Amino acid sequence: MKIRAAVLNRTGLPRPYAESRPLSIETLELDPPGQGEVLVRIKAAGLCHSDLSVINGDRPRPVPMALGHEAAGIVEEVGPGVTDLAPGDHVVLVFVPSCGHCPPCAEGRPALCEPGNAANGRGEMLGGGRRLHRAGENVNHHLGVSAFAERAVVSRNSLVRIDPAVPLEEAALFGCAVLTGVGAVANTARVPVGATVAVIGLGGVGLNALLGAVAAGASRIVAVDLLAPKLDLARELGATDTFDAAAEDCARAIREATSGGVDFAFEMAGSVPALELAYAVTRRGGTTVTAGLANPERRMSIQQVSLVAEERTLKGSYVGSCIPVRDVPRLMALYRQGRLKVDRLLTDRIELDDINHAFDRLADGEAIRQVVVFPD
Ligand code: ZN
Ligand code: ZN
Repeated sequence: MKIRAAVLNRTGLPRPYAESRPLSIETLELDPPGQGEVLVRIKAAGLCHSDLSVINGDRPRPVPMALGHEAAGIVEEVGPGVTDLAPGDHVVLVFVPSCGHCPPCAEGRPALCEPGNAANGRGEMLGGGRRLHRAGENVNHHLGVSAFAERAVVSRNSLVRIDPAVPLEEAALFGCAVLTGVGAVANTARVPVGATVAVIGLGGVGLNALLGAVAAGASRIVAVDLLAPKLDLARELGATDTFDAAAEDCARAIREATSGGVDFAFEMAGSVPALELAYAVTRRGGTTVTAGLANPERRMSIQQVSLVAEERTLKGSYVGSCIPVRDVPRLMALYRQGRLKVDRLLTDRIELDDINHAFDRLADGEAIRQVVVFPD
């Protein structure tokens, strides 16, 4: 079938994107769902910083690629072998398809699935190959999802069925921002009640980490960013302290305010200075978690002895160390009870044709989560 989709043909084009237009809205040919695959009508797809990282080349991916990895929609057709989903089911799309059998999957860490991440790196489906084409040429899939499109064919294992009572525009955020941010706090760090927390970088993922810290019962939540409006929003969402990351003595000020640093610091900006700041504000015996995706060339520098003599822990967190089929329903239940204010992060609803300008707004920090809405 024919679908409209946002296709990245070249990476590294200059800003503003409203002029260079890295994403072109094209009509593509979409194959029917194969074995173990599902055709989903996309209803909402969020714009994430890691889409920007593909656009600007920080996260190298093969082009042409149909972008978009955070979405929700409605099942339209199931392929052979799919018996537990049916047309009409509401689903959230998850950006690592997990095979269920490799060593990380076997130990309950589907975000690290080996064939799933290998397929994502090649721009292919978990089942191999591509389902998107134009003029006889294949178009690569973005993380097995390619959601800035009217429809997507995805692996059954990229989907989590959800309660149809949850609006799909908000549900979309659970596919990346919520899983990654709340999961870093709840799963990767396992923050206990009363712990002290710092979040460095207040984009969609960072603010979800903040919401996760509130839900976990952290006693002190320090929010750090370069932009004053984001610090204001953080305070409204439950931050107890806010700091300007650009201030010269930011690390020292946070250590003083928290009597030697926080128990858990989260780096959510994908930058070396942010990670170094997070490490610097973690107390003796504390844990630093990084969930920001940096350019693969970046290197950080830490004082080696502090890991030993201060028993410090430095951990990475991918997809919030989540088990999506378990965590999406759990976190949606919290959201529906008003205990995880995800809707406060959905700042704009846009049309597919406005996507380049919307990425400018994301890069400038003017929007938290913008969602492309596909009309009925
Ligand atoms: Zn994302
Ligand atoms: Zn696997």
